[in-house]
Amino acid sequence: MALKKHILLLTTGGTIASMPGTGGLEPHRSGVMERELQQLRTYYDITVEDVMCLDSSNIRPEEWQQIAREIFRRRGDFDGVVVSHGTDTMAYTASAVTFMLPDMDVPVVFTGSQLPLADVLSDGPDNLRTAFAMAASGRPGVFLAFDRKVMLGCRAVKVRATGFSAFESVNARYAARVTGLGLVIDERQIPRVKGPARLVEEICDDVFLLKLTPGLSPRIFGALVDMGYRGIVIEAFGLGGINVLNEGLSGIRAAVEAGISVVVTTQCLYDSSDLRVYQVGNRLLELGVIQGRDMTTEAAMTKLMWALGQGMGPKEIRKLFMIDLAGEVTV
Ligand code: ASP
Repeated sequence: MALKKHILLLTTGGTIASMPGTGGLEPHRSGVMERELQQLRTYYDITVEDVMCLDSSNIRPEEWQQIAREIFRRRGDFDGVVVSHGTDTMAYTASAVTFMLPDMDVPVVFTGSQLPLADVLSDGPDNLRTAFAMAASGRPGVFLAFDRKVMLGCRAVKVRATGFSAFESVNARYAARVTGLGLVIDERQIPRVKGPARLVEEICDDVFLLKLTPGLSPRIFGALVDMGYRGIVIEAFGLGGINVLNEGLSGIRAAVEAGISVVVTTQCLYDSSDLRVYQVGNRLLELGVIQGRDMTTEAAMTKLMWALGQGMGPKEIRKLFMIDLAGEVTV
């Protein structure tokens, strides 16, 4: 019999590890996953480490760093790493960890579930099985596995609050799917490793996400500058439309002039923003705003937070956003 692959499971909490408590579902340590892990041990040699025990709504950039550090430190002894995580902010963590771990040399696969493993109807066992199969696949990169689909961590978005097909790969094909043939990997989606794996964990949390609404007061930008924000991601309309009439642009101009990096993405889930198409968009480009193109909001936010964390200024950040680091953007 072939040697079992050695997989590290890092647990962080979330519904998958939750049990009913006095005030609702509460995350527990890995003990509650033991029955499921027993089954998986038939196929894999599994080491479990509880990194934290949080509902993912409580996970912050500090926790992203802690998770990235743990993956980086331990990965050398394993064929792959699975990270169990709450679904609510898993797309943010998976994107942030992607940027913090350039050239990751083993598969790192985030997963979770909509129903706790403690529930007989849980989707957790299936999601864990897909995640372990991907972690044992030998394909390096940071992925998210859910509902028999595997996608790049930096392309994942949570699209359903309760449905089992909770994540979608936005503007990118799945990296793998479970079919009647087993785990079918799309090699074109596997990130290229260009050098030795690194841990680049510095991150800046002074980045604000602003969803544009018709008639939004441009004064909001002044308030953000005064509050010390260093980056703003604007979810604009459609291809990247922003109100430029009636002083609409003055706030953005003031923010850019104050040295803030302003990235424009779209509120539409699919396709790319492109500021060059409409006059309103070209006015923004002249001001110096950065195009988010087809990145997810989660990827745009975490890439900007990461770039600022590296001490980059607006010019360098503009250049960085023209480069695809890990499959997060089509350039
Ligand atoms: N609130 C939970 C969490 O994100 C939801 C889940 O895991 O599905 O931790």
